[in-house]
Amino acid sequence: MVALLTTALAPVLMGVQAQEVGSQRSAVVLMYHRFGESAYPSTNTTVAQLEDHIRALQTGGHSVVSLADVVSAHKGDITPPPKAVAITVDDAYRSFLTVAWPRLKAAGFPVTLFVATDAVESGYSDSLTWAEVRMLQKEGVTIGAHSHTHSHLPSLSSDGVKRDLEAMATAFERSLSAVPSLYAYPHGEAGLADIDAVRDHGFQAAFGQHSGAIGRHSDRHYLPRFALNEAYGEVDRFRLVIDTVPLPVIAITPPDPILNGHPKTLTLSLGKPPANIADLTCYGPRGQLLKSVIKKDAVDVVTGSPFNPGRVRVNCTLRSDLPETQGRWHWFGWQVIAGFETEGVPVHPRYR
Ligand SMILES: [Zn+2]
Repeated sequence: MVALLTTALAPVLMGVQAQEVGSQRSAVVLMYHRFGESAYPSTNTTVAQLEDHIRALQTGGHSVVSLADVVSAHKGDITPPPKAVAITVDDAYRSFLTVAWPRLKAAGFPVTLFVATDAVESGYSDSLTWAEVRMLQKEGVTIGAHSHTHSHLPSLSSDGVKRDLEAMATAFERSLSAVPSLYAYPHGEAGLADIDAVRDHGFQAAFGQHSGAIGRHSDRHYLPRFALNEAYGEVDRFRLVIDTVPLPVIAITPPDPILNGHPKTLTLSLGKPPANIADLTCYGPRGQLLKSVIKKDAVDVVTGSPFNPGRVRVNCTLRSDLPETQGRWHWFGWQVIAGFETEGVPVHPRYR
């Protein structure tokens, strides 16, 4: 079964597939965590890297826009500037306030800070306080929602997900007098039921941690972001990332990021495939090349041996040969949760 990623837009999309591809209505969203904290290389960006990133954004013809503008552009309410990039930071570590914000503010770059409310309320020494979050908000930082307990949502029951969303909303109401309109999934993990729960809770858009450029076909409640850290933060890769453009993937099979068993293929259904689609290259979670079978309007990505349990990312890239995006990379990433068990017992019924 094929499920459309943006079901609400489906009737519209059918009529406009012919003008698909290109960079219209596309944007790139970056995701950071910690800054100048080399004890945590997997979530940290060094000060030198951050300064390189700011310079690359200032000199490469990019427009750093607010995340709200990315969402408005996705809705078709505004036309984004060429090479639109938005900056997000997850988890509200103190190093955002002390290291990153002064530099980003000086550059005039809008930032969205995704806050997990329980971490702030618990008063961890490396976490911002509510007073600091309010101060950042006053200085122009947009506050986004990042759950209450920072749990792996796919490991919670549907009631558990709802309870977490409600506890988070209560905490935001109490401390900021309003609930944010944008959400980021903890660990970027979400199944279709979690995506529905976040949408039903009233969030305008939600973000994962799978790589890729946002295009009109992206699911507004499971949008990709490029994760940056010490290993992936070198400036050459950064320049490539901020120049990426979407692939017109209108559906994925299987559609649920929580896998039921190991699929032989991930099928990417394409609107109007780029003419050079045969050059598409897909990589598995260990960076291994995955075989791609190109069909008329779809690509079967052959998954090979079963994925290791837990979070698994697949990335597909293609050098653009379109006149308006020549030489830039189409990038589509996807994150799935492969089933895992503890001594033969599923951790949760949703993992099989
Ligand atoms: Zn987080």
